[in-house]
Amino acid sequence: MLSHTILILKTLRLAIHQLTTLLHTYLLRHLHKLTYRPVSNPKTIVLIGASFAGYHAARCLTATLPTGYRVVVVEKNSHFQLTWVLPRFSVVPGHEEKGFIPYTGYLGGGEGREWEWVRGRVVRIITDEGGSGQGWVEVEGGGVVEYEYLVLATGAVSESGLPARVGVEGKEEGMKVLMREQERVRRARDVVVVGGGAAGVEMAGDVKGMYPGKNVTLVHSRERLLNRGYGVKLGERVLKELEGLGVRVVLGERVVGDDEVSVRLTSGEVVAYDYLVKCVGQRPNSDLLRQCSPLSVSETGHVRVRSTLQIADEAYDCIYAAGDLIETDGIQNARAAFEQAQVVAANIVRSIKGKTQKQYRPQWWEAATKLTVGLNKSVAYIGDGAAELVIGTTCGEDLDGAMVWRFLGAKPYEDA
Ligand SMILES: Cc1cc2nc3c(=O)[nH]c(=O)nc-3n(C[C@H](O)[C@H](O)[C@H](O)COP(=O)(O)OP(=O)(O)OC[C@H]3O[C@@H](n4cnc5c(N)ncnc54)[C@H](O)[C@@H]3O)c2cc1C
Repeated sequence: MLSHTILILKTLRLAIHQLTTLLHTYLLRHLHKLTYRPVSNPKTIVLIGASFAGYHAARCLTATLPTGYRVVVVEKNSHFQLTWVLPRFSVVPGHEEKGFIPYTGYLGGGEGREWEWVRGRVVRIITDEGGSGQGWVEVEGGGVVEYEYLVLATGAVSESGLPARVGVEGKEEGMKVLMREQERVRRARDVVVVGGGAAGVEMAGDVKGMYPGKNVTLVHSRERLLNRGYGVKLGERVLKELEGLGVRVVLGERVVGDDEVSVRLTSGEVVAYDYLVKCVGQRPNSDLLRQCSPLSVSETGHVRVRSTLQIADEAYDCIYAAGDLIETDGIQNARAAFEQAQVVAANIVRSIKGKTQKQYRPQWWEAATKLTVGLNKSVAYIGDGAAELVIGTTCGEDLDGAMVWRFLGAKPYEDA
């Protein structure tokens, strides 16, 4: 009881802290506009990747950048691809467009002054001999951008595509990928979802919620759903909700065989399917760094970082990394990516000003989340290790995407 009261008080304090941080950033941004002076030949901070980590780091930097520096964002996708609507939009038709948010509104005005945007894929990082990692990034097609500081925010890739990542770069193409998936789901009778993390749980609930007549089986290798980074109660509650919907949940079993019409589990059980969706096997997108600093890439492919979020290789003090890409003791999600982005932006400015670097430590509240369990229902979760709050709530069919659009500086749902 006491631990719950403490958690509620901590959550309230956190909400106040978040609000004051928002206000502080708003004021800082306006003040910066008055004090920042564009110069010819500014030094450049390059960010590779503009999802939760890179886009937020760019926003923080453009509000704090000293005169003499500018930000260049290099992003291969045409739009911000909102991951957490992907399970829903892989099943429910009519909202595909909302998963692709137009870029650059989040950076405010200032294009050509504080920042520039390059649409393209970085294919190589070339570092200067003898410096602290300064160099160039090479963009597919031949362009190069010189950098003084580099931020890697290339996230993760999903070998099996949806529902974890769209897997294509353009919006029109991405919408088609989602619509094809919806059609595959619609035609299926026996659905098997592999992986009981956030994506698998939401996918299973959405399919069963939309099509109660289909057989939906969720297979998870651990004894508890959502075992990575979340408390026990969330897994228990989600299990109850999914079983209430009629999803068959198989825990503690792996898929060890697949003959394209059925999967075989570790127990020997064979489960027939005509639609199999794999919600496992995302891998960190670290190939770019592997070329120039193999020492900074772990066996799992994650980028090893210092607590300052500089890469672990001390020969490269000016290269930072954040988001799903990095090795961390904490959870990997958008909240953590945001928090890391703030530390990276602050540390680059501190480095320019010759100040000591800030440390990033995973925070208890980064695992706070809201997960759908069926079409109109979701559970909100926050936990601090001592107590957990799991609250049942509702959600709109499009998962309140308009709020995220506004947050990222785009008008719902206008896309020029
Ligand atoms: C189904 C699902 C639901 C989720 N729900 C939640 C949730 O409810 N709450 C939450 O907090 N988190 C959630 N997450 C986790 C969250 O989406 C990730 O943690 C987050 O996307 C990580 O952001 P990131 O910036 O590190 O990388 P990513 O989102 O992976 O983005 C990487 C970016 O880098 C770009 N890029 C990659 N390589 C290059 C290159 N060579 N050149 C140029 N650009 C490049 C990509 O195009 C992309 O834009 C969910 C994830 C999934 C899959």
